[in-house]
Amino acid sequence: MQQRRTNTQGILIVQMLVKGVVFRLGGELPPETRFLLEDFRVAVNSAIRAGLRARVTSRNALTKLAYKDFRREHPRIYAQHLVSAFEVAGVVLKNHRRLVRKGSAGHVPYVQRLFMKAENQAYKLDRASGIVDLPIRAGCHVRLNLVLSDYHRRYLEDNSYALGSLTVFSDRVIIAFRKGAPNPYVPESALSLDTNERSLDGVFAKGNDVKAVKAELPDIAMIQQCHHDRRKRLQKKKAHDRRTSRRLCRKEGAREHHRIEYRLHQVASAVLSFAENRKSAVVLESLKGFRPTWNKELNRRLSLWPRRRLHQIIEYKAQWRGIPVFKVDPRYSSRTCPICGRIQDSRMGTEFKCECGWHLDRHINASLNLLQTAISKGMAGGLRFNPGAFQHDVMMILYDPATGARSEPNGTSCISAVT
Ligand SMILES: [Zn+2]
Repeated sequence: MQQRRTNTQGILIVQMLVKGVVFRLGGELPPETRFLLEDFRVAVNSAIRAGLRARVTSRNALTKLAYKDFRREHPRIYAQHLVSAFEVAGVVLKNHRRLVRKGSAGHVPYVQRLFMKAENQAYKLDRASGIVDLPIRAGCHVRLNLVLSDYHRRYLEDNSYALGSLTVFSDRVIIAFRKGAPNPYVPESALSLDTNERSLDGVFAKGNDVKAVKAELPDIAMIQQCHHDRRKRLQKKKAHDRRTSRRLCRKEGAREHHRIEYRLHQVASAVLSFAENRKSAVVLESLKGFRPTWNKELNRRLSLWPRRRLHQIIEYKAQWRGIPVFKVDPRYSSRTCPICGRIQDSRMGTEFKCECGWHLDRHINASLNLLQTAISKGMAGGLRFNPGAFQHDVMMILYDPATGARSEPNGTSCISAVT
């Protein structure tokens, strides 16, 4: 979550960054809190119905509409919580309205999950002990003990993080921490990356020093393939029981998602540490369109989502760390010669070759072009770079998959199944 705007050079300037941190609860949820969660759910759902009837979605309109009635029926609930219930209802209504416009809305929205959200004025947190003081109604407060690890203390002890909203579930709470984004540094070098199915390939350029870099996206394609096969097998096996089949497939999907997400975070962190240590600007191609073909299998394999998600993660982490990121239109980047500027008619094999004698790995060549575009658009400030200085014999490894991903006891069965 973030509010964003761009300055004249296209650099993203973010005013406020928000990070949701999950805390486990020490001990059972106090019974009063359970009642509060139930009241909260009733409030959200009745506000949704009122909003649908009156065709309004804003928090203020919903408050005007539903506050009085609800107050009469549920005099116990704390007023602040009621307002944030209307806010949640507003979000649900807006999503519903979007789906209606797209023509894909199902039934009337109804919140089933037991949870509540409290704005930062509506609860107190003792940052030293991790105890939340949550008002239930006048004169009645509950204390929630949060389980703290080093990870959690990092957020609690750093006072540059302001507290945002608190979301309470039956077994955990999520606290939003807010921080003003650091100003991105002035880059002294550039790291330009072309995102491919199995790797990030690119160049690191500093002055007259231009070297190839590589970060392998280890087994992401393989994990996707493996879970795809498992789902196929499940569907066949459970063909007589669609409900079970669907449930198991969903579970497979979630597992796949977690495994991939974990690896993408690892790669992004490694890339950004490299950039941060060398005060580099990061240049990425903007991944916009994806042209589906008639071949369903190929579509699945080339699906952009892991690459797009990787970009999202890189951009998000870079904002927290004050690393400037530039997005460049990748048109012709794989067909242009960075030395003489000729555009080749068609894509070639793994090697880019030009009549002027220039030849280079296709992906690395594309990243040279991305960097050139970024610099010609003035994105990286006063940075200069000379593609002719590229050192053909050096390769810097940004991320080594062998040391990156944690071992997975049952992950190995994938490898043998696919290769
Ligand atoms: Zn050329």
